[in-house]
Amino acid sequence: MVADPLSVLSRVFGFPQFRGVQADVVARVLAGERTLAVMPTGAGKSLCYQLPATMLAGTCVVVSPLIALMHDQLRAATAVGISAATLTSVDENRAETIARLRAGELDLLYVAPERASGGHFRELLAETKLALFAIDEAHCVSEWGHDFRPDYRLLGPLMDAFPDVPRLALTATADAHTRADIARQLGIPADGMIVSGFDRPNIRYAITPRDQTTRQIADLIAATPGPGIVYAQTRAQTEKLAEALGRSTGRPTRAYHAGLDAAVRARNQADFVASEDMVICATVAFGMGIDKPDVRLVAHAGLPKSIEAYYQETGRAGRDGDPSVAHLFWGADDFARARQRIGEVEPERQAGERQRLAAMGALVETGGCRRHVLLRHFGENPTEPCGNCDNCLGSGTAVDATETARKFLSAVFRTGQMFGATYIEQVLTGQSTERSLMNGHENLSVWNIVPLEEAALVKPVVRALLLRDALRTNDHGGLEFGPGARPLLKGEATLSVALAPRRERRGKRGAPV
Ligand code: ADP
Ligand code: ZN
Repeated sequence: MVADPLSVLSRVFGFPQFRGVQADVVARVLAGERTLAVMPTGAGKSLCYQLPATMLAGTCVVVSPLIALMHDQLRAATAVGISAATLTSVDENRAETIARLRAGELDLLYVAPERASGGHFRELLAETKLALFAIDEAHCVSEWGHDFRPDYRLLGPLMDAFPDVPRLALTATADAHTRADIARQLGIPADGMIVSGFDRPNIRYAITPRDQTTRQIADLIAATPGPGIVYAQTRAQTEKLAEALGRSTGRPTRAYHAGLDAAVRARNQADFVASEDMVICATVAFGMGIDKPDVRLVAHAGLPKSIEAYYQETGRAGRDGDPSVAHLFWGADDFARARQRIGEVEPERQAGERQRLAAMGALVETGGCRRHVLLRHFGENPTEPCGNCDNCLGSGTAVDATETARKFLSAVFRTGQMFGATYIEQVLTGQSTERSLMNGHENLSVWNIVPLEEAALVKPVVRALLLRDALRTNDHGGLEFGPGARPLLKGEATLSVALAPRRERRGKRGAPV
């Protein structure tokens, strides 16, 4: 008799029904069809192979990139009574695991990719009755993905040695391009893709330029009770922020980064998971595999690596469905640094990296609904503005600033692409200085062409121009043209900027959102 998935779901896992696309994915897997499931973090990907693993004869081999994550999953699977084991370099009971596998005692076997791709493992599998290959974090197979791991490349050939065993690839973080690549590399047909909804309606998205990072984040924390995560760019910054935010907000704070002693790290994480008001200042190493549903705030002190990374990191807020805030603070220097980093990666990866940065730039730059940009990135097609992001809530106003941008670029050009933003602004607004007199810049056609009411646009415009790579800062702090300048000057591109509400512009504290 064939058991019914729904009854297994409630009997083994204790859940009354499937969530989202789980039912579709499980049905395909049970039917032996090759499948790529794209589901956001927290959507319940593990169940999609764990449940079939308990129903199908044989062992389900799960490839997963992080040993720590694997052990969490092993614990969870064992807790519900699934017979499971891990096979990694840190496991001391490997011989026992292999014996259990050979004896057909395992429903689930978690392996690291470097082990899975070895020839020895293939021989072992040849002697095993296999139920399913599950490839977790499948975007690691693609150079277009944000976390490419060369060992994943060998999984396709490994699975090809067992053509009759069904395959399930799972990922939370793939744009259309990466998805197609995953499917191709892992031998999954184009119609084998199941994409779940990516919207997280209870998360309010906001993105603002940095001016005083610590003060901005402190204000945000003060306005947002409950546990919070602040992602910082460097280890040193996590410690500095934890200290300063603790002092200025009175909330318990901790730092978390890979350079901390393992015991300290584990304690800080455990304290955070147990706390109802702690703020943890962390590098992106923090958060994976952490099950804390009541995180109310995820703040970024700097630009995330990609929209995928941003979505995954902000996705740690509000897993319980209650209102939560994701606030990103960025600076033009983040983009300059990211571009520099791209210049240093292998040439064949640069195009992908550049595309990822441009997508992130579009999200930061937009005066429209942030959620739209996010969801479109993941292939969805939302129609109504969300009403729950900074732009929809009108805490900033988008204005067309294409003319101001052109004026600024002209002034940069006419002064020889060597002066900084402050000087260029003085030229545009006709503020006479010793320097402008000496340089003869008061005779230029761009002298004093920005009237007072337009002057407020200049700083946001400069930020946007740097973000777009229309302007670059040279080693002496002077501005020069980048490739993004031409389309603006030729009238092929427009530029809009978000202006903060008036009272915030005067520097008042306690900004909303
Ligand atoms: P993902 O890997 O997609 O981030 P997980 O597999 O870790 O997500 O699942 C996230 C949480 O959702 C887990 O706590 C899991 O027990 C829970 N979960 C999964 N499926 C269901 C379901 N059908 N009903 C209720 N909770 C579920
Ligand atoms: Zn919106």
